[in-house]
Amino acid sequence: MAGILVALGGNALQRAGRSGTWTEARAQMRRAVATIAEIARHGPELVLSHGNGPQVGALLLQNELAGREVPPRPMDVLGAETQGQIGYLIQTELTPALRAAKVDRSVLTIVSRTEVSRKDPAFANPTKPVGRYYSEAEARVLRKQHDWAMQYDGARGGWRRVVPSPRPVRWLEGPAVRHLMAAGLGQSWIPVVSGGGGIPVVRRPDGSYEGVEAVIDKDLGASLVARELGLDTLAIVTDVAGAAVNFGKKGERWLGEVTQDELTRLHARGEFASGSMGPKVGAGLEFLKGGGRRFLITDIPSLARAVDGEAGTRVTRS
Ligand code: ADP
Ligand code: MG
Repeated sequence: MAGILVALGGNALQRAGRSGTWTEARAQMRRAVATIAEIARHGPELVLSHGNGPQVGALLLQNELAGREVPPRPMDVLGAETQGQIGYLIQTELTPALRAAKVDRSVLTIVSRTEVSRKDPAFANPTKPVGRYYSEAEARVLRKQHDWAMQYDGARGGWRRVVPSPRPVRWLEGPAVRHLMAAGLGQSWIPVVSGGGGIPVVRRPDGSYEGVEAVIDKDLGASLVARELGLDTLAIVTDVAGAAVNFGKKGERWLGEVTQDELTRLHARGEFASGSMGPKVGAGLEFLKGGGRRFLITDIPSLARAVDGEAGTRVTRS
């Protein structure tokens, strides 16, 4: 299917250093929607996904501060809450932008679950820091009280909870959305799917699913969605204009058009930091291996030009 998946990064949604009010979130989203409406106007099927790191962080903190009055909710539920919250934000801001661009499509948010494997090695080795920073004494108590894995962050001088980040295996709502796309949804609706990589769930022996305390990398989740829907292009939108070699060092070079083989080589050489650019490049390479045609890394100001092949890091299947 011709069509494009645009995955909005947490940083494209919320500017670092801001206080995180709803008014700011709306203003930030308003910066993104004109470009997205423009892409929709040019015709291809458009599917949106998004990160949720700062939003889950805020809910974890609310859980903690209000815990005596309101029972804290598990992480899978927080994931669902952020999908609703951000989906609503996208619907609110993108709808008038579509109308202004004379695009007759509705925005539809789909609460999405992503299956992970109980046997994923990530469950024995939690690596993804979530929530706030704690003192050593607090960390000791939390480890005992909740059985949390805690990790020291030397750079910030504090302890943080770490949770597993298992690989996404299956997008449970994928087949339904694929059918809807085939039945014309792509022409009349813009689905917002798999926010935050999807709500992590595992399969029970009886075939039902239950949520787990984990987070899924949203870039890997987006790659899975793009493959499930057979989309042609995966565009990962973040807060830098593309991927660079020697990033932040002497000889820094931003990548424009690059082949799949070349990007694979650079990735293996460790040019892209794990936990930030690394998973984006990994997600893009998986997409191309799984039948995708084109993979883009860009920021909001360059997104439209990146889609036209004039900006951002652009990788075509070799
Ligand atoms: P998002 O919230 O959009 O997922 P991340 O912070 O996870 O954003 O990833 C984007 C960040 O990756 C950039 O702001 C940049 O600091 C960092 N980064 C690490 N390595 C590279 C690289 N080789 N080229 C470009 N950016 C890089
Ligand atoms: Mg990220």
